Amino acid sequence: MWYNIYMDRNTVDILGYGVDTFSFEDAVDYIVDNHGQVITINPEMIECANKDCRFKSIINCAEMVVPDGIGIQLGLKILGKNVKRIPGIDFGKALLIRANNLNKSVAFVGAKPEVIENAVRNIKSELPNLNIVYQHDGYFSDSTDIMKELQEKRPDFVLVALGSPKQEFFISELKSVLPDAVMIGLGGSFDVWAGMVKRAPKLFQKLGIEWLYRTISQPERIKRIIPTLPIFMLKVVKERMIGR
Ligand code: UDP
Repeated sequence: MWYNIYMDRNTVDILGYGVDTFSFEDAVDYIVDNHGQVITINPEMIECANKDCRFKSIINCAEMVVPDGIGIQLGLKILGKNVKRIPGIDFGKALLIRANNLNKSVAFVGAKPEVIENAVRNIKSELPNLNIVYQHDGYFSDSTDIMKELQEKRPDFVLVALGSPKQEFFISELKSVLPDAVMIGLGGSFDVWAGMVKRAPKLFQKLGIEWLYRTISQPERIKRIIPTLPIFMLKVVKERMIGR
């Protein structure tokens, strides 16, 4: 759209991390026009980055950081800032629809071999004209060959599902190989697109408690949330009360 050239980033800070305040549609428009790395940030990622300065710098150098979950939205609310959530899986789908409409090429990297096969098959049946130029599962020990293959295929959009922070490191390396691509880390989204994992019912999505559904259906995930989420929230409350 013609007005996008005037659109600029506006970020709000949470514990030293800038989070973009774009609406969903504007976020898609902005990143398609400006390309680069999109981070779908959540409290576990912030806690992980606090212990790993390389990860922190990847987040802070990303071209866009969207508030993926309710944890970030709530944390920002405590700090007096209102932002709308942008669930990564929906953002990823919107990018695929945009790629389809603009006739841009797409690559998928991540998940188990049978998962990526099924995910790509389902996406193709939904978007038959989507130009998929590359796909690779996410279980590799050395990324050199994949980087080379991606360099040859030159996709406009790269969707990566390796879990965090692996996917963010992968994309950060890929940036120098594909400087003009839109690249996003999507966690477990391929499992959902493949039909292997059920997405939370609409009511959970609406209330922003998809994480609760995922934790109930995969109880092993509880280890990720506890103690990370309470620690994150305590830090936010401390920042609100006495500053960082
Ligand atoms: N995965 C992968 N390679 C790995 C580890 C994980 O491709 O070495 C995939 C895994 O199969 C799953 C996704 O990465 O499809 C991670 O999903 P998870 O639910 O852990 O991610 P989250 O959404 O919690 O970040």
